[in-house]
Amino acid sequence: MNKKGLVLVLSGFSGVGKGTVVKKLLEKYDNYALSVSVTTRSPREGEADGREYFFITEEEFSRLEREGRLLESAGYVGHHYGTPRDYVMSHIDAGRDVILEIEIQGAMQIKKRYPEAVLVFVIPPSAAALKERLSGRGSETEEVIAARLKRAVEEAQGMEEYEYLLVNDDLEACVEQLHEIMTSEHRRASRNQEQIQKIRKDLAQFVEGD
Ligand code: ADP
Ligand code: 5GP
Repeated sequence: MNKKGLVLVLSGFSGVGKGTVVKKLLEKYDNYALSVSVTTRSPREGEADGREYFFITEEEFSRLEREGRLLESAGYVGHHYGTPRDYVMSHIDAGRDVILEIEIQGAMQIKKRYPEAVLVFVIPPSAAALKERLSGRGSETEEVIAARLKRAVEEAQGMEEYEYLLVNDDLEACVEQLHEIMTSEHRRASRNQEQIQKIRKDLAQFVEGD
């Protein structure tokens, strides 16, 4: 296996279950690390600073951007979100796959700046199921839910830009499929140059020694 970790960009409509899928994946496998983003939105009930997000002010966000400390950033329904660069890089170097649970604008920035990243888009089994999940979470007002559903319609235009489409119907199955995608991505010949060179050399020596 290649030693460096991969960047996994996971996008999907708000309420589709990205957070839930990622939580399960992290519980089940120990080779993943979740990138904790910065955001200017307020914490939801049960969210802790430094766990779900680093909750920061608009001024702090602007400073991080100015100093080039964000790998990508985007505006989403009235707030700013961004991925701190250092955390991602250190985990990749340590051989862990880093999950970026980000929206589509940020995903496209990563695709451009870091083409090796694996891009996965999560969809619900139906639009009705999405609305139900968003409402069922009980963390947003009806107005915010409506804005997020509207944003989903816009995001749905960009799904072909991703490499994989994952349906979050049965949660366990979805988690397994995501892990399978990453396992296959590690096996790509292009990511395993060291192994290729080694077996080439080994074969050549073997034949010469005949
Ligand atoms: P996201 O991070 O994509 O905004 P969440 O992970 O917060 O979404 O999930 C939104 C809601 O949907 C939560 O209440 C969660 O328990 C529920 N949910 C997630 N996955 C499934 C699933 N496969 N089937 C049914 N409900 C789900
Ligand atoms: P939420 O407010 O529901 O936590 O997140 C709203 C949207 O912002 C989700 O689609 C989520 O994936 C996305 N998001 C979270 N963190 C980041 C980030 O660092 N960068 C970008 N571009 N999007 C993010």
